[in-house]
Amino acid sequence: MKTVKNRKDAHKKLTLDELRRLFEKEGLRLTHQRVMIYNIISEAKDHPSAEAIYERIKKDVPTISLDTVYRTLSTLEHLGLIRRVQIFDHIRFEPDLTKHHHFFCSKCKKIIDFKWPEFDQFPLPDHLDQIGQPIEHQVEIRGICRQCAEKEAKGRS
Ligand SMILES: [Zn+2]
Ligand SMILES: [Zn+2]
Repeated sequence: MKTVKNRKDAHKKLTLDELRRLFEKEGLRLTHQRVMIYNIISEAKDHPSAEAIYERIKKDVPTISLDTVYRTLSTLEHLGLIRRVQIFDHIRFEPDLTKHHHFFCSKCKKIIDFKWPEFDQFPLPDHLDQIGQPIEHQVEIRGICRQCAEKEAKGRS
């Protein structure tokens, strides 16, 4: 499935009406579960996994299946409402479609966004042509986040 379009107002949460219009244009029904999953990701700052989203929605909709969550995430991705982030072997979802990079904490597995405009403008090496046509380039940094580092320091003293 190809993403429908890249929305310019990509970090703005859609209203229920806007959401319904977008779904109807694609011949899809906006169910209560789809709205809930969209809301969870729109408000999430932590790049939740499908399983984490499932755990969050299950509190309100105990009958929902993990499969429904997976399918809804694919639909939302297809509509250009959310983005799938694959970092190392973790698959997560985020609402912010604007250009940014990721810091991955190998301790708590948190993904933290950061901006790096200098890098974004940096020209790619010419010899990339021989490999293929780049579509986008993004930085992924693996490390220990501040909170984990502080916890570790406390544990040692
Ligand atoms: Zn951490
Ligand atoms: Zn991100």
